[in-house]
Amino acid sequence: MTTNAAAFAAAQAVIPGGVDSPVRAFGSVGGTPRFMASAQGPYLTDVEGKRYVDLVCSWGPMLLGHQHPAVVEAVHRAVDAGLSFGTSVEGETRLAELIASRVPVERVRFVSTGTEATMTAIRLARGVTGRNLIVKFAGCYHGHSDGLLAAAGSGVATQALPGSAGVTEAAASETIVVDYNSPEALEAVFAEHGESIAAVITEAVPCNMGVVEPGDGFNRFLREITAKHGALLIWDEVLTGFRATATGGWGLFGEVEGWTPDIWCFGKVIGGGMPAAALGGSAEIMDHLAPLGPVYQAGTLSGNPVAMAAGHATLEHADEAVYARVAAASDAIREGLTSALTAAGVDHSIQRAGTLFSVAFGTSADGVKDYADAQGQQVFRHAPFFQSMLASGVYLPPSVFEAWFVSAAHDDAAVQQVLDALPAAAEAAAQA
Ligand code: PMP
Repeated sequence: MTTNAAAFAAAQAVIPGGVDSPVRAFGSVGGTPRFMASAQGPYLTDVEGKRYVDLVCSWGPMLLGHQHPAVVEAVHRAVDAGLSFGTSVEGETRLAELIASRVPVERVRFVSTGTEATMTAIRLARGVTGRNLIVKFAGCYHGHSDGLLAAAGSGVATQALPGSAGVTEAAASETIVVDYNSPEALEAVFAEHGESIAAVITEAVPCNMGVVEPGDGFNRFLREITAKHGALLIWDEVLTGFRATATGGWGLFGEVEGWTPDIWCFGKVIGGGMPAAALGGSAEIMDHLAPLGPVYQAGTLSGNPVAMAAGHATLEHADEAVYARVAAASDAIREGLTSALTAAGVDHSIQRAGTLFSVAFGTSADGVKDYADAQGQQVFRHAPFFQSMLASGVYLPPSVFEAWFVSAAHDDAAVQQVLDALPAAAEAAAQA
């Protein structure tokens, strides 16, 4: 049997940093990243045979838990029929129909990653409006395409600086970054650039600076101000889609308030753990995509039959009972978390939207409203907290700026293991 350390060393010799996605390297928590060998229900097992309650759930997709029998069976059937054909398959239509039965989209275009979904959504918005500028919020993550990496400093709306080496100033200059939860900042941007703004892109609920609750009416305000200025609202549900609620983040806002965004982005749950993502919207907007329209987009593995099968089986089985179980597990863990931190005397806020939540250390009772608040927290308390949980067999997101994910497979035993681990971790956070 190998060890995590040996697996990491071998990976570092052939893969930059030993990882294919930076957060996996445990940069902000220290220690040896775990290399997982298998997963079942709410558990992950690493290459050393150590088992963990999984509170990452592959960063969202595993809504039903690992190896749900219906998903495994659907995938096996798809694999037996062939891995990829480079043609259309009926599974694409079936998954598109299922998505359209849950949220008000008329057309769905499948891609392989959330990054592609938002990148294409932006190209589409520019193609539809004939405008160039994109507005995004500081601290929101929409994948790693050039224009969307611009995160820039906070403060009132600023022309963005490139958020990564290799992003040109030209690409960044077409992205305006605005503080989240600030209608005033957005109004100022529209007053100055209104005629050039193609779209505002937002996470339905920001979950990539920790969870940040949209202020009262903030999402509705985004819908109104974009419509007023002829810009589109790109609604990124890659993370929240079919997870925050049965109808995603939209279920918390648009569905109850009676509005819809223009372009939706999905990922994670709609692939059930396989690479699949999508954008969707009205026929009027979506039909601007090739081959019907002039906005080009394509993909060798787009709509891959195995991915479509995994996503369809996942979404089909995500019924009321699944969301009820996810909510119950999420509530129990959240309550345990806040009482353990309170008992240990650690100031904190639990940030939450639907079944999604995260913790911010050392923040005021008002919690985190924007990126500056998120960055201002006591980040140093997270590493010892994380390491204590890990030692107790709980695998948390290895960054404080991420949501915690639960699944319908998180039964009472798995939840209890998390609850039992929390007091010691809270003590470790207190002593940091
Ligand atoms: N949008 C959001 C809101 C996300 O959370 C993510 C990934 N966490 C993405 C887009 C990018 O998706 P992917 O990693 O599949 O490219």
